[in-house]
Amino acid sequence: TKSSGELSRFLDSGVYRFSNSNAVFLDPVGVLNRSYTRFRVSPSAYYSRSFQPKRLAAESAVASDSRKRKRKPKKPQSLNVRELAADQRHQEARPWLLKAHESLLGAADLLSILSKLRSCSCSSMESSDESCSVVEDSFVELGKLWQAPLYEITLNFNQHNDSSGHGGLLNNNQSSEKREIPIFNNLVVNETCDDVEAEFLNRHYVLPGQSSFYMSDLGQIHNLIPVESDCGFNLIVIDPPWENGSARQKSAYPTLPNRYFLSLPIKKLIHTDGALVALWVTNREKLRKFVEEELFPAWGVRYLATFYWLKVKVDGSLISDLDLFHHRPYECLLLGYCSGKIKRYEHVAEFTPIKDNQVIISIPGDYSRKPPIGELLLDFVPGVKPARCVELFAREMIAGWVSWGNEPLHFQDTRYFLRD
Ligand code: SAM
Repeated sequence: TKSSGELSRFLDSGVYRFSNSNAVFLDPVGVLNRSYTRFRVSPSAYYSRSFQPKRLAAESAVASDSRKRKRKPKKPQSLNVRELAADQRHQEARPWLLKAHESLLGAADLLSILSKLRSCSCSSMESSDESCSVVEDSFVELGKLWQAPLYEITLNFNQHNDSSGHGGLLNNNQSSEKREIPIFNNLVVNETCDDVEAEFLNRHYVLPGQSSFYMSDLGQIHNLIPVESDCGFNLIVIDPPWENGSARQKSAYPTLPNRYFLSLPIKKLIHTDGALVALWVTNREKLRKFVEEELFPAWGVRYLATFYWLKVKVDGSLISDLDLFHHRPYECLLLGYCSGKIKRYEHVAEFTPIKDNQVIISIPGDYSRKPPIGELLLDFVPGVKPARCVELFAREMIAGWVSWGNEPLHFQDTRYFLRD
């Protein structure tokens, strides 16, 4: 049948396309796995937050319930101008989100396997290692030290020739090559088509084939600007560390005031043929207005469409009530075009037009971790193929992409992976 065909495609690709709506369901683990040849993303590590043991989930539900009760519900007439504008955006999004969610609830084949997405026969590589988060979380701090330029990462190439069957870190295989290079303020490239294992301060990381990272503070982002603009990027995905009140966010990563993002050199990063720019935003109305009125104009980005990321639980239900004002179960991805040096506006019309209001449904991973949407955007990217893609403020790497941020290795720690 059609639907079981779609399910088997989903199991191969991590993407389930609903035939009757503007929506897709993503399993980030399945999508990310396409970046790797010798490793697999650990589903239990990816989904550690969403599949809490029942007791913990119940406790946190009780806690958030009592918080909600304390909060005075706002009467509609007390909404201020900004809240009204936010509510209007929500009302516009609502029918698309409901339709997408209905599609998910109608896809019995998909629903029946959601709870199995996490299960896996093997455990994550180093889950028993208590010390694992210590170094992994400190790239941001290490990068600020005066010693930062002295820190080196060791890339271990050619391990696939290893005969021990363990990926061969400790094997004396003659064909393997170790390369030690500065880890901060330096483009670290895996130009091979295979995963490469890397070592830094006794932790191990996986670099997917044909990927690279540049780990630095915003102050050094100009080093990503290509010398020749035909070496620039055709797809730029940006997930800025927006300020918001969340205490949890404060401990997760540093944030920056909006004005810092105005100086991101987007115009200089783009390819002569132009670029598709995809920006993650929160639902705060003040931020949405800032992006529309200041940020996109400053970057030279022409707004095109909005995609929604709708977050669901393992049983397919939304993670929170759709109409809950301060805890929407969705986030927005704003899409726009930035034209290249060669101003071929008429050329833009040749690109596949982006359908507005597309909905991407997934079960969330770690705090603030976005689903890997890059591939869904490739059809809309201007210029020659394969597209040159960069993610700004990245915490992970993807085959074929450049990842920039102050911790692009965060989710590349081998504790997030299983060996094939
Ligand atoms: N898209 C990512 C994901 O899915 O995991 C999340 C990105 S998170 C919203 C923002 C990132 O920007 C964090 O990794 C944070 O450490 C980084 N960041 C904050 N301040 C920065 C700065 N001054 N320079 C570079 N990166 C910075």
